[in-house]
Amino acid sequence: MTVAQRGTVYLVGAGPGDPELLTLKAARLLATADVVLHDDLVPAAVLAQAERALLIGVGKRCGRKNISQEQINVMLVDQARRGLAVIRLKSGDPLVFGRAGEELDALRSAGIPFEVVPGITAAFAAAAALGRPLTDRRSASSVSFSVGHHAAGSPMEPASLAGATRVVYMPGRDFAAIAAQLRREGLPGGLPCVIVSRAAQPDRQIVRTTLEELEHAAPLPAPSILLAGETFREVQPEQFETFASCETVPAAKPPDRSDLNRIPD
Ligand code: SAH
Repeated sequence: MTVAQRGTVYLVGAGPGDPELLTLKAARLLATADVVLHDDLVPAAVLAQAERALLIGVGKRCGRKNISQEQINVMLVDQARRGLAVIRLKSGDPLVFGRAGEELDALRSAGIPFEVVPGITAAFAAAAALGRPLTDRRSASSVSFSVGHHAAGSPMEPASLAGATRVVYMPGRDFAAIAAQLRREGLPGGLPCVIVSRAAQPDRQIVRTTLEELEHAAPLPAPSILLAGETFREVQPEQFETFASCETVPAAKPPDRSDLNRIPD
């Protein structure tokens, strides 16, 4: 059975929010780690799996507004050098839009042993929530992941991906910019679009629209993700009632283990 090793850093995928969607390896590492540095998208129910670790929030919304990527890199290296078993816990998969590249570079150049543990990325949780495939041999032969954040001005995808299912992470609140970009790429106004808010969490919400109506869609609670493609044509809002009733994620109180002075020896 996997036990977090001292002096090692684990980049672990926390999945989309439901603790049952953690991998067994992630759960076992969380249960045995000394320190967990986590993003603010990781919910309390997942953090509760880290039974004995010191929890350090390093996300922008964790109350440490000015913590830089460089400082996080330094913390990872320092804590591993002190002989701690360290987890860098990121929502979804750690290698998808998670700045993992910079952290891995820092660990490599410091000679710190590390391991990456994959997680279920938001795109997969959103597709599961919709009960629709991301690829479909009848309508979608590829899938692309992009960020909406920087949509304005820069082309999101090459035209060769015209038939792909598009998944836009961090769509922000300006759906008009994303819609305009997708239209410029030649995608049709009738293309089905779905916004999934808080996929795999108890308060999930789903809005189904089309590319031409997208700019009028009201933003949903963060985090949310935008999916566009023919494969979502059959999505009907009433379908989600059945899925919603299957969810049994218990409400969890955040564990109170955030005291920075309590780093174990
Ligand atoms: N590494 C993460 C992505 C981090 S970027 C992953 O693999 O999922 C953060 C973005 O991910 C959010 O802005 C949102 O677009 C998306 N996201 C993360 N969790 C989500 C969830 N439970 N439901 C919907 N979108 C989510």
